[in-house]
Amino acid sequence: MNDLPQQIDVLIIGAGAAGLMCAAVAGQRGRSALVLDHANKVGKKILMSGGGRCNFTNLYTSPENFYSENPHFCKSALARYTQWDFIALVEKHGIPYHEKTLGQLFCDNKSKDIVDLLLAECRAARAQIRTRCSIESVQPLESGYRVETSLGPVQCESLVIATGGLSIPTMGATGFGYEIAQQFGLRVVPTRAALVPFTQHKRQLERQQELPGSALPVTASCGPGSFHEQMLFTHRGLSGPAVLQISSHWREGERVSFDLAPDRDLAEWLAQQRAEKPEAHLHTVLAGLWSRKLVQHFLAEKGIESRPLKQFSPAELSEIGSRLQTWELVPAGTEGYRTAEVTLGGVDTDAISSRTMECKSQPGLYFIGEVLDVTGWLGGYNFQWAWSSAHAAGEVV
Ligand SMILES: Cc1cc2nc3c(=O)[nH]c(=O)nc-3n(C[C@H](O)[C@H](O)[C@H](O)COP(=O)(O)OP(=O)(O)OC[C@H]3O[C@@H](n4cnc5c(N)ncnc54)[C@H](O)[C@@H]3O)c2cc1C
Repeated sequence: MNDLPQQIDVLIIGAGAAGLMCAAVAGQRGRSALVLDHANKVGKKILMSGGGRCNFTNLYTSPENFYSENPHFCKSALARYTQWDFIALVEKHGIPYHEKTLGQLFCDNKSKDIVDLLLAECRAARAQIRTRCSIESVQPLESGYRVETSLGPVQCESLVIATGGLSIPTMGATGFGYEIAQQFGLRVVPTRAALVPFTQHKRQLERQQELPGSALPVTASCGPGSFHEQMLFTHRGLSGPAVLQISSHWREGERVSFDLAPDRDLAEWLAQQRAEKPEAHLHTVLAGLWSRKLVQHFLAEKGIESRPLKQFSPAELSEIGSRLQTWELVPAGTEGYRTAEVTLGGVDTDAISSRTMECKSQPGLYFIGEVLDVTGWLGGYNFQWAWSSAHAAGEVV
């Protein structure tokens, strides 16, 4: 049964963060808008985001927090719909929120507050939404597009692709947006899982078998990337914000370096400890920095025997400090799209207007959100990109 309008001004495919925002903005301009999604409910990634509390933006959002082959592309949209605009919308809906750390804003209650906000905005704008609707084909018309769906055909003036990236296929992620881009001859920047935990080799995991659940602050570095945040040992390898962030810089076979005591020079600190507490054992002193399990592990890993500090010469202690300071490893891989928060790469922004998100060679076709080659750091930046790019398109579709 065809339960869809035959003709609509704006057809948006993907009822996630970007798609719902775009429908609301377009609808508020008086455009008839319809959002279609193949999943059984809207905004699934919003619901699971931020540990259930949706880190919906970041106070310090700026273009430097995004990866793209064209780092300038995101500037216009981010400047025209900022974190402050989205915060004002959150406040208009009376949603309680707080800053957790590093400018990251989370809902006090549940991520569902943000989905409810988007649905209320869509209702107020008379935008229609249909779930469980699969898209069968997209054909360009002389003016506009004809889209065949499992609920029947729809013709539209503007077609917006908001189908996101490849991460978490069990939540409905598909490569649909990339296929549409290719259908219209657009390049897709190679994609890869990002903001994703590292896996480690079996032998290393056996050595770390006491550690899953242990966390410590580190500075994780790889190539030009460097992040000072928590690292967490897991049963498969390494996770925590520092690891997720650095995973966006890492490529297969590359070495990642962790400064295990990022706020001090361990060689100097151990010399000071030796002067103050010469009788204290090395492992007891290090327990002031790390949990006992971590101390045991790092000492064993580096083949360092614990003795009272006075039994080490200053030179020996300095060398121990330097060895303990840095841990370098080549991860076996990542957990991949199964657990990645985002997809690096996507529709090449060279083909897209940074002001409107419209495809330069294909009038009336728009790409917004994560499907584009714009990927944020961990910390609310990816949702801010969804809001900003959706708003830019919503104002013109
Ligand atoms: C576990 C997890 C936690 C996250 N936490 C945060 C966070 O706290 N803060 C943050 O900023 N970012 C977070 N992110 C990233 C953020 O969720 C995404 O960047 C954001 O949702 C992208 O918005 P989007 O609208 O482009 O795509 P999505 O929100 O992924 O929406 C795409 C929609 O398109 C639909 N779709 C896909 N293919 C088809 C198809 N073939 N036909 C019809 N519909 C289709 C999907 O069902 C989905 O509803 C998290 C991601 C994950 C996976």
